[in-house]
Amino acid sequence: MTIVVKVGGAVGNAAGPLVEELAGRTDWVLVHGGSDAVDRLGDALGVPSRYYTSPSGVVSRRSDPAHLDVLTLALAGRVNPSLVAAFVARGVKAVGLSGIDGPLLVGRRKEGAREVVGGKILRVTDDYAGTVERVDGTLLRLLLDRGYAPIVHPPAVTSAGEVINVDADRAAAAVATAVRAEALVLLTNVPGLLRDVADPSSLIARVAPEEIEAVLPLAQGRMRKKILAAQAALAGGVGRVVVAPSGRNSPVAAALRGEGTVIG
Ligand code: ADP
Repeated sequence: MTIVVKVGGAVGNAAGPLVEELAGRTDWVLVHGGSDAVDRLGDALGVPSRYYTSPSGVVSRRSDPAHLDVLTLALAGRVNPSLVAAFVARGVKAVGLSGIDGPLLVGRRKEGAREVVGGKILRVTDDYAGTVERVDGTLLRLLLDRGYAPIVHPPAVTSAGEVINVDADRAAAAVATAVRAEALVLLTNVPGLLRDVADPSSLIARVAPEEIEAVLPLAQGRMRKKILAAQAALAGGVGRVVVAPSGRNSPVAAALRGEGTVIG
């Protein structure tokens, strides 16, 4: 049974228990982001993360070329090697892959974004962000079948070779679809989808596919991306998706037992 696990990069996401657990399993793909490491490296290099606000008030990170350099440096140069090394130390044949390699994650650049600047609505021209449309599942299967553990991270690439920033949760959903995963586990720094984000005891334990639209308004920010990723994975044929906490022992087994929010 192939499972795809995604671990976040925001503060409060723990990788230690996950590495310990996955080292004892086979047939998994790990997808990671690293927003905290990206922000910290950007600040250290004098290229802080910038945001823009759409006319409808949605705030998005501006993935301009300088930011993409920082993102690639942080994820491919720091977060991924430290995860790969932690697995290698436990005897796992881990292989780090960015979405550009292969190419593994091929996407389309988002077009038509608008931003509000000083009361005026302007076209956003310097944003290289998009969505994954195609995953090279053959490359992942090739590795899995030979006992290697792929550890995948953004950015992705367009068919024209432009590097684009993509959401790691949505990328994980596309990866899970491509490898026909039985389950996608989205690990996070909260117990799962909460009815009230300020109340950790308000966990929603189960969401049927037809209930996703109804719970979506409860999920803000990064949790919204996870619910959308869950929806995409289920539509892609993945058996079930679990949004579950990373900061406990054996977080994947716990998630697969249903400890978190099971969607599907
Ligand atoms: P990443 O995987 O990108 O690092 P996080 O693990 O930080 O993302 O995403 C989860 C975050 O989503 C929580 O820390 C919380 O602040 C936010 N959130 C917003 N709405 C909800 C909700 N209804 N339930 C749980 N978390 C929510």
